[in-house]
Amino acid sequence: MSKQPHVLHRYARGYWLYGSRLRASQWKSADEILADQRRKLRALLQVAACVPYYRALGVGPDSELKDIPILHKETVRAHLDQFRNPHHPRSGVFEDHTSGSTGKPLRFLLTADQKAYEMAYSIRFWRWAGYRTGDRIAAFRSYIPAARHDPLWKLDRHTQTLFFSVYDMTPANLRRYVEQFNRYRPQFVRGYPSSIFIFAQFAAAEGLAVHTPRAVLTSSETLSSEMRAVIERTLQCPVFDWWGTNERVVTACQCEQRGAYHVNAEGGILELVPVADTERGGACMKHRDDVLMEESASHRPAVTSTVYRMIGTGLINHAMPLIRYDLGDLALPAAKPCPCGRGLPVIGGILGRSDDLIVTGEGKFIPPVRFYTLFETHGQIRQFQVVQTAPNAVTVRLVPTRELTDVELTGLRQKLHRFLGETVAVEFAIVDEIKPEPSGKVRTVIAHAPR
Ligand SMILES: [Zn+2]
Repeated sequence: MSKQPHVLHRYARGYWLYGSRLRASQWKSADEILADQRRKLRALLQVAACVPYYRALGVGPDSELKDIPILHKETVRAHLDQFRNPHHPRSGVFEDHTSGSTGKPLRFLLTADQKAYEMAYSIRFWRWAGYRTGDRIAAFRSYIPAARHDPLWKLDRHTQTLFFSVYDMTPANLRRYVEQFNRYRPQFVRGYPSSIFIFAQFAAAEGLAVHTPRAVLTSSETLSSEMRAVIERTLQCPVFDWWGTNERVVTACQCEQRGAYHVNAEGGILELVPVADTERGGACMKHRDDVLMEESASHRPAVTSTVYRMIGTGLINHAMPLIRYDLGDLALPAAKPCPCGRGLPVIGGILGRSDDLIVTGEGKFIPPVRFYTLFETHGQIRQFQVVQTAPNAVTVRLVPTRELTDVELTGLRQKLHRFLGETVAVEFAIVDEIKPEPSGKVRTVIAHAPR
């Protein structure tokens, strides 16, 4: 097993891959991209035929992707050795793991080629947002003050990045964050959408002038349309969102059109599979009424659409192939191609983690992003967290900007009942703050585990 490649080495390989291939391949036709994926898939299936887990399933070069069963994280965790390719050279292979912020971490193997692809995708994404090497960046992630007296922000001169702690976003500190942000005048902002949203919302509520960067790049959490609206209005610049998981099987991100998400298809295949078609156990899955009711402004059902799981196949990693791997997130298909003209396939939107999908006792499916729409349009609610305590009971923790009246709480309860169902008991808990997980991410929905 090799050591992780040095960051400069990764940059060099990533830039080479971007410049030599991925800058051009994004403009190939959808058919050409599909043909390239098919070629890479055949090679992967050939490799998989020697990997114990896939060999036992009878997977070979002529297998059809749709015939291979969906692979769950738990299976990989329990049988890690079964997924290693015994013929892959040990050099250029690195062990990595998921953050385990909401569960046990998962170990897996990555290759240098895979790392180069990731770097090249990032470079491409940043170019879509207009980034040029050397631009100043403000980051709302990755920095944890280790000791009590450590500074709340820290400048990394190599990357021209000013990191703000996302663990200390109190009103008093946020005022200082805004001052520091304005002094640094970043051209780009990157980080967790929830943290950048809190920063922007605070500045707007306090009437503070904020420096306008060229763009905001969000990742690692679901970006709701409300978060996007507040950030874009306050910072007066576009938000570009990136979707990916630690396992790096496949990723997707927004181009300058900022509507649909382009799948980075040169190194991965993304399938959207209806929730009800996938096995998760639990009697409620029998109901098949996995219909998400999007409501119009008048609160009448306007659009109905099915919730899909994101299932990924990594085409580059031959040291530990992950085929039809459940990436743990929910999405909607795109209604039409992206007008930018790139041939990279698109998905319509990200609905949040499937572990955060609330399934009620009646078998109703409520994706996490649905709650954002409800709470974030309420000006009096700074933060919220929905905890499903039993199949038919939720506790909603609220951080209000001022005391909520009984009429406001009753109105909220009615709206919650409308999409959870009347039989679900709703309790409110008013709290001072909702702390982020050790990873820095805020969990807005915690679904009842055994279902
Ligand atoms: Zn596009």
